[in-house]
Amino acid sequence: LNRRLAEFGTTIFAEMSALAVRTGSINLGQGFPDADGPEEVREAAVRALRDGRGNQYPPGPGIPELRTAVAAHQERFYGHRGLSYDPDTEVLVTAGATEAIAAALLALLEPGDEVIALEPYYDSYAACIAMAGGRRVPVTLRPDPEAGAYRLDLDELRDAVTDRTRLILLNTPHNPTGTVLSPEELTEIARLAVERDLLVITDEVYEHLVFEGAHLPLASFPGMRERTVTIGSAGKTFSFTGWKVGWATAPPELINAVRSAKQFLTYVSAGPFQYAVAEALALPDDYFTGLRDDLRAKRDVLAHGLSEAGFRVYRPSGTYFITTDIRPLGHDDGFAFCRALPERAGVVAIPNAVFYDHKEVGAPFVRFAFCKSPEVLQEAADRLKRL
Ligand code: PMP
Ligand code: GLN
Repeated sequence: LNRRLAEFGTTIFAEMSALAVRTGSINLGQGFPDADGPEEVREAAVRALRDGRGNQYPPGPGIPELRTAVAAHQERFYGHRGLSYDPDTEVLVTAGATEAIAAALLALLEPGDEVIALEPYYDSYAACIAMAGGRRVPVTLRPDPEAGAYRLDLDELRDAVTDRTRLILLNTPHNPTGTVLSPEELTEIARLAVERDLLVITDEVYEHLVFEGAHLPLASFPGMRERTVTIGSAGKTFSFTGWKVGWATAPPELINAVRSAKQFLTYVSAGPFQYAVAEALALPDDYFTGLRDDLRAKRDVLAHGLSEAGFRVYRPSGTYFITTDIRPLGHDDGFAFCRALPERAGVVAIPNAVFYDHKEVGAPFVRFAFCKSPEVLQEAADRLKRL
């Protein structure tokens, strides 16, 4: 393994899911729903397979039906903010959001370029920045225990920009803290990007999982559309994490760049699932609000249970993750806590330190996923209360 990758080892998600299987624990670690997405969308995938649609290499940028559906989805949900994309030149289908992130970084970074990312950050960001030869510059979200929320210090963000900064890699709603950046914060980030002429890759895979307020795509702020690659995922929006269908939207020049990298990573993404996701994106509005309402109720079940069990809960405004502080339970090392938790309680969680460069800042925090049935969440909470 080369030096660029050596520091990353095995992703925590694989490690913790294996531990859950080995110990028969409730897995609130890796974020995947315990119920598959809509039946009709599964049927659409079966139909495509059976009818021989997509069983051979689909077009590199994605099948036209899916690109059209992505563009129509952006228009439906964000058209009122003046945001729309041309399906032929401004949409790229990828193998999950993971590939979109990797391809965008590989396409847009020169060796030595600096990338600003909010810390804690989703684990593939650091590895992909490294693979692209870039340098990550973390800007740390600060916990506000009184508010039970995380805060972005805009001055810190501004100070992190140097002459070597090429882009900001943003994530809202934010994994693992559940932070949804406010309109004011997004306005300031946009202003900074324009002022310093930065590109932005914005990972908005949890766009439909916002429980308070509304999701505002960064690309819809003044001066941003032309400099922003926006990333979405059918894994999150339709509860099919195993299908690995994602997409990027951006102006033609940026999409072409990302596509140049994508063509040598996977060339194309799996065909039949693209037909099914095209149908999924056209589901009526009440599918999307139903998903959100369902997860909001699950958030409340788990947040309540974790509080009762003695964790300090950072109540998420979005995503399907809850970050907790374990210090009220008398622990301060999330790694040790998560490694012991399956034996002690039969529950698996993720230590937030893996999402940090400043490991000491993340050490006492642990993430639980709540994309599980209310019964499973209640059982996990009951087990944790007996800790
Ligand atoms: N970005 C974030 C913030 C995520 O939480 C995830 C979930 N795994 C991904 C990207 C990757 O998405 P996908 O499964 O579509 O590759
Ligand atoms: N995004 C999910 C999480 O954060 C799963 C990611 C993965 O397994 N790579 O838990």
